[in-house]
Amino acid sequence: MSDLRPAGAPATTVTGAPAVPSPRSEPTGPLGPTEQDWQRLVALIGAADSIDLVCHVLPDGDALGSALAAGLALRSLGHAPRVSFGDDPQVVPASLGHLPGLELLVPAREVPAVPELMITFDVADPARLGLLRPKAEAALELVVIDHHTSNSGFGTHRLIDPVAPATAVLVDELLRRLGVPLDLPIATCLYTGVATDTGSFRYAATTPATHELAARLLATGLRHDLISRRLWDTQSFGYLKVLAAALDRAELDRSAAGGLGLVWTWVPCADLLLHGVLPEEIEGLIDVVRKAAEAEVVLVLKEDPDGSLRGSSRAKGAVDVAAVCALLGGGGHAYAAGFSSHDGVTATVARFRAALDTPR
Ligand code: MN
Repeated sequence: MSDLRPAGAPATTVTGAPAVPSPRSEPTGPLGPTEQDWQRLVALIGAADSIDLVCHVLPDGDALGSALAAGLALRSLGHAPRVSFGDDPQVVPASLGHLPGLELLVPAREVPAVPELMITFDVADPARLGLLRPKAEAALELVVIDHHTSNSGFGTHRLIDPVAPATAVLVDELLRRLGVPLDLPIATCLYTGVATDTGSFRYAATTPATHELAARLLATGLRHDLISRRLWDTQSFGYLKVLAAALDRAELDRSAAGGLGLVWTWVPCADLLLHGVLPEEIEGLIDVVRKAAEAEVVLVLKEDPDGSLRGSSRAKGAVDVAAVCALLGGGGHAYAAGFSSHDGVTATVARFRAALDTPR
């Protein structure tokens, strides 16, 4: 899968959430950007004539919401920022069609070959820049704003907080430092980012400061109910049929993972064609499968048109699926990981099951 973290899974575990938040809670943890980091970024923005704001390919709500919020803010300051991501064609997921500022979006080819100042949002690794990677590497200044524990440390200037529940939290702090108030369009972008990456404030990385930010965002009058419905509760009828078939195909292996249990299923490419469903529409299918109380681990295999399989796995805390998927050539996070396979469904499940039983 593109981003091995599911929409909303914590980038890392929370180590030191403030017990009593101040009126303006500390937005970033002790591992986050320093005062000097922020001042340098504000200075870079102030001095730039040309600014490109980019997020990762196949953007989720945090990636695109963060870039667009920054874009709207910079536009209000008199800049003319471009927002982009490196897919061709560049498709905004239907669930993010409500985001304000989409008019700032330009195709990757319209980003200058040598950007003066490029800022990346929610990009853990240059590979996630897709078509924009060469331009990012040529940029005179490449600022990386991110919250992935796994961030590979690229760019000329980094503002990375591995404890932040979303990149949007860092953007909120940037806007405060730029003196840009939260208006309804900006708040809609930031709320979409924070809600996406916290699974609607359910995941462990959610802190008092996260809720305090949500309160400030809701105070702008945004329709969080409509955003939530769009993000989580809207699917095509075809998706429901694909989901039904996948659930019907699911198997429970109680003895797997040392008796902790595995539920697995797969989605044939033919199901997507039959029901007119796009591959990206089934990214969340695993969130239904993983509800099974009987299993610590779930595995969903998605067949691509060439017959290869993309495996996505989730665990509930007792098994590190990143380590399991690494044995199959993949990787990710302890709770959420993935891999690719060319072995067919039966053999791939057997390999995954064997990896679960491999001592680590
Ligand atoms: Mn994120």
